[in-house]
Amino acid sequence: MDAGWAMNVVGVDVGATKIAAGVISPEGEVLSRMRCPTAKMPEKLLSGIVRAVLEVKDGFEIGGVCVAVPGLILSQESMVVCSPNLHAIEGIRLKDELESEIKLPLTIENDNSAAAWGEFRFGAGRGTNHLVFVGLGTGIGGGVVIHGELLRGAQGSGGELGHVTIQATGPRCACGNRGCLEALASGSAIGRRARQVASEKPASALGCLAAERKVLGEDVTRLAREGDEAALSVLEEAGRWLGIGLAGFVNIFNPEAIVVGGGAMGAGELMLASARQEIRARARPPARDLVEVREATLGPDSGVLGAAALAKDASGRYLL
Ligand SMILES: [Zn+2]
Repeated sequence: MDAGWAMNVVGVDVGATKIAAGVISPEGEVLSRMRCPTAKMPEKLLSGIVRAVLEVKDGFEIGGVCVAVPGLILSQESMVVCSPNLHAIEGIRLKDELESEIKLPLTIENDNSAAAWGEFRFGAGRGTNHLVFVGLGTGIGGGVVIHGELLRGAQGSGGELGHVTIQATGPRCACGNRGCLEALASGSAIGRRARQVASEKPASALGCLAAERKVLGEDVTRLAREGDEAALSVLEEAGRWLGIGLAGFVNIFNPEAIVVGGGAMGAGELMLASARQEIRARARPPARDLVEVREATLGPDSGVLGAAALAKDASGRYLL
């Protein structure tokens, strides 16, 4: 990248509950950031995104903006066709609607693709050319970088790693299918499985908590860290399901690294240790022996940094 080219960019991460925006320097430094709640009505949502960009960029020279949004995107129309946690963003030609207000070159991307790109450029995947990113949260999102480029597929909706079927007759997934990776290893899947295990083992710390209130994914991590066997077994099992999914990705993509991030990664090695065992048992050499499973390192700025790294100028060239 020639030095004369580099300019600051704005990255925007639109989540189901908050919009985060930041000005990022060519070196990947966050120069300015802001957050605001996500409105649930389409018009207010759009004006909220515009306001976030205009506010955060105030006083900086900006080359382009990228807005990362949750859901399946048709890239040609810059339109989200399905976003289970943010219906307000569905069916809008986002580039057309937002660019005229923002008055800077605008790119629209999927949020997990952006998180994958952020880890690839600035985080745990730096230095690799082939990377798989898995975001464990309420659901499971994915992003794939191959030969240093984001995998998009024919319509822009590729890389939906959370909805690969892992267990044909498994639990129902939010997408309608059964036994998706998301239905077995996400934060909500961990919570659901923990509530079953709690009723089987009422004397465990997990069982005692379940007698008081509804057990959530983060409770399981906390109790496991305190040494509760029941909670540990839930995380180990979720880690095994995760590893079965990852073993498939290793065979398909032959990545140098799999980066696992997202809110449910608070469980860290409590899940990743058993995931690695499954990869060793199930994936094929030589890919199995090359791949490293790493925790994401960008933390709460990952969405904004990833979006920023995908911002383009008016001629379609990446700015960072
Ligand atoms: Zn699914």
